[in-house]
Amino acid sequence: MRSRWSDAEAANLSGLDLLVYASRLIGAETSLVVWGGGNTSIKTTERDYRGREIQVLRVKGSGSDLKSVQKKDFPGVRLDDILALIDRDDMGDQEMVSYLAHGLVEPGGARPSIETLLHGFLPRPAVMHTHADAVVSLTNNDRAHDTLADVYGRDVIWLPYRRPGFRISRDVADALRAHPHAKALILERHGTINWGDSVNEAYEATIDLIGRAEDAIESKKRGRRVFGAAAVPALDPARRRALAVTLAPRLRGRLSQPKRQIVTFDDSAAALEFASSEAAARLSQVGPATPDHTIYTKRLPCFVTTDRVDDADALGNAVDRSLAGFVKDYTAYFEAHRFDGAELSDPMPRVVLVPGLGMFTAGRDRRTTGIVSDIYHHTISVLGQASLFGHYVSLSAKDAFDVEYWPLELYKLTLAPPEKELARRVALVTGAGSGIGRAVAKRLAAEGAHVVATDLDDTGARRTADDIVAAVGGGRALGLTLDVTSEASVRAAFEETVLAYGGLDILVSNAGIAHSSPVVRMELRDWLTSFAVNATGHFLVAREAMRILLAQERGGALVFVATKNVMSPGKDFAAYSAAKAAEAQLAKVLALEGAPHGIRSNIVNPDAVFQDSKLWSEDVRRERAAAQGIDPAQIEDFYRKRNLLAARILPEDVAEAVLYLASDRSAKTTGCTLTVDGGVKDAFPR
Ligand code: ZN
Repeated sequence: MRSRWSDAEAANLSGLDLLVYASRLIGAETSLVVWGGGNTSIKTTERDYRGREIQVLRVKGSGSDLKSVQKKDFPGVRLDDILALIDRDDMGDQEMVSYLAHGLVEPGGARPSIETLLHGFLPRPAVMHTHADAVVSLTNNDRAHDTLADVYGRDVIWLPYRRPGFRISRDVADALRAHPHAKALILERHGTINWGDSVNEAYEATIDLIGRAEDAIESKKRGRRVFGAAAVPALDPARRRALAVTLAPRLRGRLSQPKRQIVTFDDSAAALEFASSEAAARLSQVGPATPDHTIYTKRLPCFVTTDRVDDADALGNAVDRSLAGFVKDYTAYFEAHRFDGAELSDPMPRVVLVPGLGMFTAGRDRRTTGIVSDIYHHTISVLGQASLFGHYVSLSAKDAFDVEYWPLELYKLTLAPPEKELARRVALVTGAGSGIGRAVAKRLAAEGAHVVATDLDDTGARRTADDIVAAVGGGRALGLTLDVTSEASVRAAFEETVLAYGGLDILVSNAGIAHSSPVVRMELRDWLTSFAVNATGHFLVAREAMRILLAQERGGALVFVATKNVMSPGKDFAAYSAAKAAEAQLAKVLALEGAPHGIRSNIVNPDAVFQDSKLWSEDVRRERAAAQGIDPAQIEDFYRKRNLLAARILPEDVAEAVLYLASDRSAKTTGCTLTVDGGVKDAFPR
């Protein structure tokens, strides 16, 4: 562990600015804190709203993350209000939170950390608390006291595990009173506390403490294989990928009860080695590295017991059995430790370890599955390192439960915005590089969906995905090349989708091309090309989507973007109109085949959408104008005036109709055609 402190960068900073700087240095090191863990503080002098000089504790707020923390994330609490509590024996959590709210310098600001009193009671100007993997590794084994004494001698004191709250804050204050010369404090099975007269001192003390733990781990590790031999040989990358693609939709379907989950596959070296090891079956079932991990990962992962990892069916059945076992055990754990007000909302695991294959993580969105994965990687690291010193130990099941269901921890989750209509869903859109497809992709994303934007034009697909990520956040879109006429290309894009998100909920089959020519002059290849894209293309993507939706057993929505021409064909447009009619008929047959499985299939018929459209090339414009007997420059106006409302149809108008048919608002509609054409009497559905 090296110090990241730069005197040059810190030179012009003081007070809270300097604390923000140092906090981000701590946050930048994921082996110190991950995703909201840890906190830092300073004690400072400020002026209150009446200009009076007051002593203030600036401490990280609940729910903010150290690596990106800002000044506003450090609420101020009046220190005299905090110190007034120091001789109390105990205080309830809710009472403590309410009490601290009265002491806030900025009323109604961010809620201060649940470890606020611990910081306030420590009589030092700067305090830092981490969940460092290396130090937790020293405490999470059955020889922790000998290990800590060997590594730290008398410099460091340690306290037995106690859930964060008032009592641990008192314990820390009492321990320092008893050992005024201690250099640091370790909270067993939880983390570190360091301090200093300055922010720099506290930071360097933290790095030094953790560095000594890392050195001890290094000297133990030499040449040792911590997880033992492989119990199941790791499959080769191509085989892993193929099996994960087969398994993920089934797994996602199981995990999506009662709520849909995004599921991400991770076969990184660390995840694969651990999941496949001899030790994993036992070691994975002991408990978390540090308490706050439980709110993302739950106490334990689901470990899949199987000796037939190379066979997709046998593996699928093994996963089902292991999941059933997990739910039974988790429910028993809940019943054994429940308290008034605790609710079992979801008994499913967040981490699933599959020997030979790797790890799947589940969460409300792709960002969360990444957090779960990050946290479990740190867990794996601690499991291995702690085992160098003795048998791995963790919080008791009761202690883990008390944190997992602790209202003050769950509060952090409530800070997330409410879920949108298509949250937790995955949509794949073809032809999403421009025009209607692009508008649809953005609209579905704005309603919360994870969107796979595909197009023959890979630059266009990536541009749509980039726009979505910029608008709604990282992980929410993928931009992929997809040629709807190629079986291999279609399959590859769906595989990427499954590996990133676990499956699919919505297909918007939109990609199309136009060709205009009277039949007598039409070349066979133009007819065939139109059918390849406008008919076969829809078949290929719909077939792949259906396979995933059926494996998930959670229903789904197929939306086909067809055309007004299906109802009302135009002359010189045979290759296009006939192929699109095949698309529409395919959609209706899928309504029949999908219905028993809750899969709906519907059609949107737009007309004359010119904006941002590749379909309306210069050639097509000229030929369609000729077919209508008008000047090409007048074509947009001609189509607009042709409809009853004299409306110009925009991609966004079509996207609105697609959204309706993709969402549960149309839950009782299938086999339906919705027109978005401004009203074309000849094309009224009948
Ligand atoms: Zn902590």
